[in-house]
Amino acid sequence: LVRLLSVKEAQSRIVSQLNIVSTTSVSIERANGRVLAEDIVANSSFPPFSNSSMDGFAVKAEDVRGATELEPVVLKIVADIPAGAPTSTILEIGQAARIMTGAPLPQGANAVVPIESTNLVNDSIDASLPDVVQIFKPVDEGAYIRNRGEDLQAGQRVLQTGRKLSPQDIGALAALGNSNVKVYHRPKIALFSTGDELVLPGETPGPGQIINSNSYALAALIEQHGGEVLILPIARDNAREVRDRFEEAVDSKADLILTSAGVSVGAYDFVRPVVEEQGQLDFWRVNMRPGKPLAFGSFKKVPVIGLPGNPVSAFIGFLVFVLPAIHKMAGLPAPSRRMVKAIISHPIESDGRESYLRAVISNDRGKITAALASHQGSGNLFSLVEANALLILPSGVKSSPIGSELDAWLLDETLAL
Ligand code: AMP
Ligand code: MG
Repeated sequence: LVRLLSVKEAQSRIVSQLNIVSTTSVSIERANGRVLAEDIVANSSFPPFSNSSMDGFAVKAEDVRGATELEPVVLKIVADIPAGAPTSTILEIGQAARIMTGAPLPQGANAVVPIESTNLVNDSIDASLPDVVQIFKPVDEGAYIRNRGEDLQAGQRVLQTGRKLSPQDIGALAALGNSNVKVYHRPKIALFSTGDELVLPGETPGPGQIINSNSYALAALIEQHGGEVLILPIARDNAREVRDRFEEAVDSKADLILTSAGVSVGAYDFVRPVVEEQGQLDFWRVNMRPGKPLAFGSFKKVPVIGLPGNPVSAFIGFLVFVLPAIHKMAGLPAPSRRMVKAIISHPIESDGRESYLRAVISNDRGKITAALASHQGSGNLFSLVEANALLILPSGVKSSPIGSELDAWLLDETLAL
């Protein structure tokens, strides 16, 4: 009797035997969505120098304390400081310097009066600067100044290894002076379906034939999760073709080989014997529904995951086992699942295996409810199109009455509930 592995055990066996891929350097223009392979530490403070956050006049706050519209304080203009140039001005009592947003604050100034609080608000930038400015409002010390180092201190870690880079991270990388960044390669996954019955999309299936959908759904999943995919041709149900596909996968320098179907114990299931010939294979029965048969091993030292052939089993098997594998290889932390608690609107039966049931989740006046998708057969790919979540029935639970609350794993990360 083959012992049933728990889903958790199977996941951790797979993850523990996979290695993280190597690193490469990419330009920041190409780095969005890539996984960072170095810690990014600020090598200088940010902002790098104290500067004005407004167009206006750099002043000493003490000088303008009593300023009003009726009795403005008059200051002598001693400098004009645009952004992008250094300033050697040292402000004395009774003096002001015109300053633009982002321009360095002159020594001696401790505040900026916005241009709107002066008599020069309507002057064009091209008009010659008068000798004096009238200040209509007081400002607090420090007003409208962005101090050196207030965003970031030199030596502070900004981004951590293993982070999937977002557009704001790219901005931070640029601001910190990185034109290139070290990232992990995308894990390369070679994928093939097996089966005498399969034809390609666009071909007309003959009697008894069906269209290969798994290769495409699995390839899309791989790409969506940051892998690089190579779809190999279908292997017919004979040892030679299956062996050829494995050899091609190895030649392609794949980090992982993913197969669909042919992993059961049927007379025409060749994935297992071929892998056993050239490597080693653990064939597992996982305590899971759908997708009990799962193969894991290696072919010429390249890891292999063999998924079942039924489209729903293959899809869910990917989410449960291949996704954590990709994360491990890609240098990412374990995948997180978007989970909600949902109240089921039918009674649910299962056989005690950890079950992943296709469901449609909705928000019914503040109550998150789950209805099962119309048909739960593991061959019914279209029920996955209809579903927006997988209800998880824990192992050992054979039935769940209507109105009970179950964990739902949302398939659509962006679903608004
Ligand atoms: P198997 O694991 O080979 O016994 O296949 C199980 C079921 O999945 C059978 O009904 C197959 O026809 C179907 N199947 C196998 N491979 C694919 C595929 N690539 N695309 C869609 N269905 C498949
Ligand atoms: Mg088959």
